[in-house]
Amino acid sequence: MDYYSSQITKLIEELSKLPGIGAKSAQRLAFHIINMPKEQVDRLAQAMTGARNNIRYCKECYTLTDQERCPICSNPNRDHRVIMVVENPRDLAAYEKTGKYDGVYHVLHGAISPMLGIGPNDIKLKELMQRLQADVKEVIIATNSSLEGETTAMYISKLIKPTGIKVSRIASGVPVGGDLEYIDEVTLLRALEGRVEL
Ligand code: ZN
Repeated sequence: MDYYSSQITKLIEELSKLPGIGAKSAQRLAFHIINMPKEQVDRLAQAMTGARNNIRYCKECYTLTDQERCPICSNPNRDHRVIMVVENPRDLAAYEKTGKYDGVYHVLHGAISPMLGIGPNDIKLKELMQRLQADVKEVIIATNSSLEGETTAMYISKLIKPTGIKVSRIASGVPVGGDLEYIDEVTLLRALEGRVEL
């Protein structure tokens, strides 16, 4: 089915492997790229390889960064004794956008899901427990309000309770099953301020 040159077909094929990109969108994007100025295509390609090659986990909070420690962890003005636990870097970004949270984060990179076979060892939970050896005042669990998010929150609170460190959960009001990143800032702030101790 090589209607196009093999180069274009290959481009369409690669693009269609991206999430949310069906065959039609891939085709549209491919033709868009081919018609872009050559310099712009180079910049796009470089941005992709550059990000892929240089981005790594922050050694403290495990968010994605191009430094050893992310800008939040290396900021002395943040309260390093308050740790907000989120499922992914997008959730971290959502809370950062509110501009009202001055603690630090811990990014789990997923949530516990027996259905999908994702257990506690498949997310950055050991790493969180290690961080709690330092001087920590409160852990705020801000996983999503999905079944997986709630399961993870319960699991974490049971782990932390014996350490005597305060554990809280962001308030509901965040719609059930709602991804944190799609919720507006006011709702996020309300959820944070109305957090309850577990
Ligand atoms: Zn960090």
